[in-house]
Amino acid sequence: MLSNAEIGIDLGTANILIYTKTKGIVLNEPSVVAIDVNTKQVVAVGTEAKQMVGKTPKNIIPIRPLRDGVIADYDVTAQMLKAFLKKVSKKMGLSMRKPTVVVCTPAGSTAVERRAIHNAISSYGAKHVHIIEEPVAAAIGADLPVDEPIANVIVDIGGGTAEVGIISFGGVVSSNSVRVGGDRMDEEIIQYIRKKYNILIGERTAENIKMEIGYAYEDHPEQTMEIRGRDMVTGLPKTVTISSKEVYAALKESLEQILEAIRATLEDCPPELSGDIVDRGIVLTGGGALLHGMQEWLTREIIVPVHLAPNPLESVAIGTGRAIKMISKLQKIAK
Ligand code: ADP
Ligand code: MG
Repeated sequence: MLSNAEIGIDLGTANILIYTKTKGIVLNEPSVVAIDVNTKQVVAVGTEAKQMVGKTPKNIIPIRPLRDGVIADYDVTAQMLKAFLKKVSKKMGLSMRKPTVVVCTPAGSTAVERRAIHNAISSYGAKHVHIIEEPVAAAIGADLPVDEPIANVIVDIGGGTAEVGIISFGGVVSSNSVRVGGDRMDEEIIQYIRKKYNILIGERTAENIKMEIGYAYEDHPEQTMEIRGRDMVTGLPKTVTISSKEVYAALKESLEQILEAIRATLEDCPPELSGDIVDRGIVLTGGGALLHGMQEWLTREIIVPVHLAPNPLESVAIGTGRAIKMISKLQKIAK
């Protein structure tokens, strides 16, 4: 029984999810690991490590090894992955002996990085490890009929990147990736508040601001929020009230870049598939799809229907799990 375990992993730049066929999503944690620089030991992973960001003593550094959509440090990535697998096997009360694993790596990852991930999972005892392309996993997880000869357009806005893919007949027909995602938006908010108010805020505060009062278009109902940071002149803590219109101003450029990537991919689409897109539209997924007004804004901008995936933060993980069944078929097509 155990030897037949099937596991799907979404190795995202912001979040890692592990999915099993029988239990659904069994792990969903930030892709963060805290390392003691003196001993090189992992002291915390996931949620626990993310809570340490910006708050640790000098010898402990929280690292996001997959930041920016590339595997910046694959030793650390491998260690983190193993820590999560261990956690899941403990939690599920079974040793995951010889499972079949389907893993989705960030689209920007190189062959060397993918091999490193493959090895890390194999060395944990996996019998088969398959790596699949992110847009395909996202589309499967969003319930799109990827194996039919029709255009399925998926837009996945993650932490490090936004990926746009057109999938038909089990494969990627065309795709585009920009290194603009949730992280860039957070960064823009930090810069904006620094320039305008001379206040320094941390990454987590910026992310909270984005989720609470961030909007994808300007003419939204205005909201405000009190935020705390460090006054750069006095060095002391300071509170200011910021408006969602200001947050929009900070996010505007990142949003435009994502829009450009979507337009470029649609323009690049083979004519036979273009007709499908007019009818069927595109599907948004990834955490960035949850920004307030994203769907409405894109609908206005690109004129084709824009749908939101049922669970934007979980589509890829669900897709990797479901892909196990489809893998042999997809591989046959790829050959
Ligand atoms: P990845 O696949 O790269 O790990 P995810 O799809 O998990 O990324 O998305 C994570 C990103 O989505 C983060 O930048 C996070 O701030 C952002 N995000 C999550 N929820 C929301 C929300 N409600 N509004 C705006 N952004 C969100
Ligand atoms: Mg993702």
